Amino acid sequence: MDPLTPDILYMRMALREAEAAAREGEVPCGAVIVLDGEVVGKAHNQTETLNDPTAHAEILAITQATQATGNWRLNGATMYVTKEPCPMCAGALVLARIQKVVWGMTDPVRGGAVSKFQILDHADLNHAVEVETGLMEAECKAVMQGFFQELRQAARERKRNGEQPEQGPETGPRKQ
Ligand SMILES: [Zn+2]
Repeated sequence: MDPLTPDILYMRMALREAEAAAREGEVPCGAVIVLDGEVVGKAHNQTETLNDPTAHAEILAITQATQATGNWRLNGATMYVTKEPCPMCAGALVLARIQKVVWGMTDPVRGGAVSKFQILDHADLNHAVEVETGLMEAECKAVMQGFFQELRQAARERKRNGEQPEQGPETGPRKQ
């Protein structure tokens, strides 16, 4: 067992958000923003619910945090997120001046931070975001994999029953 550090506590909070997303039929990604030891933003992916491709956990958490602090510059803030941010969210982290991002699972196919696109590691951007990866990676992966397994299972059952496929999150473990 990992010792119960603040990092672990905040990532657990992000994981609970990801689980809430899964229950709502959303790709399970959760994000928490901490500033001066206080949670100022906490959200999960709501792309399907809000019918909005920008309603990723990170974006919703940033909006909450800027509302809570009355400042769109989140200098000194840390974001805990279950999965490596996509290019859009990585861009938002830079614009929001977030100091550090900590994530669980890396996304080698679509990751926008350091994997597929290196938005958080770009010399030409006016703000650099520190990166820490692999915190509670196994738990973060398990939530994602469990969600897509259930989706595939449901799709197989619908096919067996001769029903039409349902609209919903695209299948494939790395899509968001
Ligand atoms: Zn995103």
